[in-house]
Amino acid sequence: VGLYHMGAWGEGYFGVNDAGHVVCRPDPRREGEIDLAAVVDEVVAGGLRLPAVVRFQDLLDTRVRQLNEAFQAAIAEAGYGGAYTGVYPVKVNQLREVVDEIVEAGRPYGFGLECGSKTELVATLPRLESDDTLCLVNGYKDAAMLGLILTFQRLGRRVLPIVEKTAELDQFLALAEAAGQPARFGLRVKLSAVAPGPWTKSGGTLSKFGVSLPEVVDVADRLLATGRADALRLLHFHVGSQIGDVGALKTAVREITRVYAHLTKRGLEIPYLDVGGGLGVNYEALPLGAGRGGVDYSMQEYANAIVYAVGEVCEAEGVAPPHLVSENGRAVTAHHSVLVVDALEQTEKPGVADDFALPADAHPVVRDLDALRASAGGAVGLGELLEVVHDATEAREKAEALFQYGYLDIGPMALAERLYWTVCRAVHARVEAADPDWTPPELEALGDALADQVLCDFSVFQSLMDHWALGQRFPIVPIARLDERPTRRARLVDITCDSDGEVARFVSPEGDKHALEVHDIGGEGGAGRPYRLGVFLVGAYQDILGDAHNLFGGVAEAHVYLDETEPSGYYVEETLPGTTVEQMLARVQYFPSELQTRVQALLREKTKGGVVRPKQAQAILADYRALFDASTYLDASDG
Ligand code: PLP
Repeated sequence: VGLYHMGAWGEGYFGVNDAGHVVCRPDPRREGEIDLAAVVDEVVAGGLRLPAVVRFQDLLDTRVRQLNEAFQAAIAEAGYGGAYTGVYPVKVNQLREVVDEIVEAGRPYGFGLECGSKTELVATLPRLESDDTLCLVNGYKDAAMLGLILTFQRLGRRVLPIVEKTAELDQFLALAEAAGQPARFGLRVKLSAVAPGPWTKSGGTLSKFGVSLPEVVDVADRLLATGRADALRLLHFHVGSQIGDVGALKTAVREITRVYAHLTKRGLEIPYLDVGGGLGVNYEALPLGAGRGGVDYSMQEYANAIVYAVGEVCEAEGVAPPHLVSENGRAVTAHHSVLVVDALEQTEKPGVADDFALPADAHPVVRDLDALRASAGGAVGLGELLEVVHDATEAREKAEALFQYGYLDIGPMALAERLYWTVCRAVHARVEAADPDWTPPELEALGDALADQVLCDFSVFQSLMDHWALGQRFPIVPIARLDERPTRRARLVDITCDSDGEVARFVSPEGDKHALEVHDIGGEGGAGRPYRLGVFLVGAYQDILGDAHNLFGGVAEAHVYLDETEPSGYYVEETLPGTTVEQMLARVQYFPSELQTRVQALLREKTKGGVVRPKQAQAILADYRALFDASTYLDASDG
């Protein structure tokens, strides 16, 4: 189990039970745990098709609570004079169930919502709990959006557009004036501070978003000159998601607090200071502060950093501390969902049996490779093993060149490849057995090169977009058989017709890892049972970024709650089927009637020509029609 580093990335929410199944402990205050493999068995037996996202709904609740408690603790410890309100940025996961769960969990804390587009605005405005619930509207806005925001402000709701550019402010002020109501808005400030990390472009003076410092000063002067000292309600920045370095966050927080202090001293009354999102998730399972794309702080340190930095600057500047706001999405949602996929097939690198005997007329290059099999067995020390690998590689390249120019037939070429991998496997076994303190990189790389290929029924583009686009690693673990040591290593490939549709980078605190420890999926422990992998921490962004490459659709879902009164310890509140073939086709404007008409015409023609009998034609049409309702993924139950 240590192989999967669950203790590091799982933050105590995930573990393994006596049956060797992954369990989720979604609420540290409660004893209960949910057996993921049992949940999957149950929903599949109920007719749900994998791949599916299993949502541990209680984990959303836990994360919202822990975030609020972290800020409350920081405020108490620092003796900070202001309060804190979090808002959930719905773009991170807009699914209604997710948002509703977060709203409910956030009720005791007055948690608010943040949206960033017209569609999100339309979905979010009706979900505000009360007039006091904060709703921030980020991103670029047109007149219709600004008008709707003004209407909700008139209704008494605490909705603030976060102005991204001065032209938008002009438009908003004009609309407010025309409506005869006071304008209330926030301002996103372009700070000089940047936070290194994959989303670093969100910050800094070159970032796409925000109003520059000279513009901020102009806005302040304009507001003061027109008697609107209370129109600017909130100052905001966001240095980017997944901040790796808490120091960079503190620098940005100090900078925005200086802006706040100076504007306050100029005469503006700004109640809120909004530090954006960025609270990281430990996808890489790295120890705190390990660098290399990890996160160097805990949730509590994140809250402390913000509260203390704002408090110190306010004290130094002699201004009242503002009400703090943060917009954490990733850290709230990432843990709650797991993508579960069926592993369909395990392909080993080819090889020859131990008692393989070379044909008498074997080509010299094949003969060389066969001789290296014996050398691998007799080699002494890493130097000799390295030499065997070099010689084998050279012989294989020679065989490939001979084949390309027509001097080697396909049979001997195939045999050369088998022998090459057999030599590599023998060397690798020797290195593993020797377990040296240091292994030359070329020998180290053999483990990855020899890895199996495991075909999994999912699409990287639909379900793990950040892996494809940004090389983001996600923890991947077999959801059962964890009481049995995995004996193989594998790269995972998806079912899209695209070589990019693979997962060949895995979580490892030790460094780059290109193969995952897996079991022999058809082996004894498998005993004909499906072999399933869970891809963890996929609750943030992955659901929504999904792309319809090859027309693979949205995956099925199961929503699970802890329930200690059930013998299983959980109950599945809801299951949602994945997108059907018909639904995916409609997105690209193909409809069943037209497609069926075409197939019918073909069948008529073939029936006339005697290629099929009328009854067979009918059956063919029925089979074709049935696929409209099918899942877009493979049907693993076909065997
Ligand atoms: N606020 C804004 C303005 C954002 O652009 C983002 C995402 O990058 C967030 C909040 C959420 O950030 P995170 O998911 O890192 O919490």
